[in-house]
Amino acid sequence: MPLARPARRPKKAIRESLLPGVGDSAWRRALRARLAAWYGRHARKLPWRETRDPYNIWISETMLQQTQVVTVIPYYERFLATFPTVTDLAGADEQQVLRLWEGLGYYRRARQLHQAAKVIRDYHGGEFPNSYDAVLALPGVGRYTAGAVLSFAWDQRLPILEANTLRAVSRLLAYQSDPRGSEGQRLLWQAAEDWLPRRQAGRFNQALMELGSQVCLPRSPLCDKCPVATLCPTQKLNLQDSIPRPPRRPATQQVREAMVVVRRRGQVLLVRRGATARWAGMWDFPRFEISGPSPDEIELRRSLDALTDVDADRFKPLTTLQHGVTRFRITLDCFSAQYKAAAPLSRPEEIVERRWVSPSALDDYPLSVTARRLARHWIREMQRG
Ligand code: SF4
Repeated sequence: MPLARPARRPKKAIRESLLPGVGDSAWRRALRARLAAWYGRHARKLPWRETRDPYNIWISETMLQQTQVVTVIPYYERFLATFPTVTDLAGADEQQVLRLWEGLGYYRRARQLHQAAKVIRDYHGGEFPNSYDAVLALPGVGRYTAGAVLSFAWDQRLPILEANTLRAVSRLLAYQSDPRGSEGQRLLWQAAEDWLPRRQAGRFNQALMELGSQVCLPRSPLCDKCPVATLCPTQKLNLQDSIPRPPRRPATQQVREAMVVVRRRGQVLLVRRGATARWAGMWDFPRFEISGPSPDEIELRRSLDALTDVDADRFKPLTTLQHGVTRFRITLDCFSAQYKAAAPLSRPEEIVERRWVSPSALDDYPLSVTARRLARHWIREMQRG
């Protein structure tokens, strides 16, 4: 005897969590129509919205993760000018890919993009796959990116949920629990799917994202300008300040590090970070944690040697840089030093390669953001004499 099909629990959960009328078919029709009309009038012109090429969309969506639109635009244009097709990207050297990515941060994205391009070349004949499972199987591609690429490029009826849509959907549902928890995620993804129109799903997704980024702002959303304000229970209940519930952020941690420009016969030492290190694959000046401000030469020399197996002396302070990586607030004391001797590398998990590079060749290497800042500072100081 065939088993009865189980009821779709997510929809039930959504109905139970909402105010009357929210999410029903009349509400969904109104939401789609108003968003579509508003998006037609207010959508920003962005280079990745001028194309339906899945490769271009994939590049833009990968760059846009954790990075603002204005920062991404020049990177996106340079990247596509250098690698116009997925096959060009697959055939590139990883160092070239990282150099083009330098400054965008989260370098793992660039390495996975490169690996995924090789998979597309080798297993999909160089054509970006158009099946959800195949896209999701690519390195670095999660549910959001797969939904975005397939809906924007081919109008596949797939939902998306990232920071902007998560906020807008949470508020349109008046969802007061944690939207990042497993129950919240299930409910929000289901809502984002239920609201999709049969046609032009990609445009709907883009409109919802645009609403989240331009109107339904994290603080003080512009409800008086919002095209869906009369459909929004959060606005009716005046709960904009508490929905979505903010994520629990780990406490920030202050860290003190040193970075050293080691000189040897007109060249400087660069090290390439290992797979487990921060900025894996990137080149860097040697850097290590120090015990506090103003470390003495003995500590600097010992730490440099322990990390790189290079001995140096005559440490001189150059500058101090501040930067943040995830929850770490790093104060970076920068020094120059003079090479004395070197032994073979003994910590390959941290440093996979050492290279002596002339100052004029530093531009060819993908450097961490702080290494680039230090390189520029040091070259300026040298030119001043
Ligand atoms: S009415 Fe306000 S809270 Fe509701 S979706 Fe619009 S901007 Fe967001």
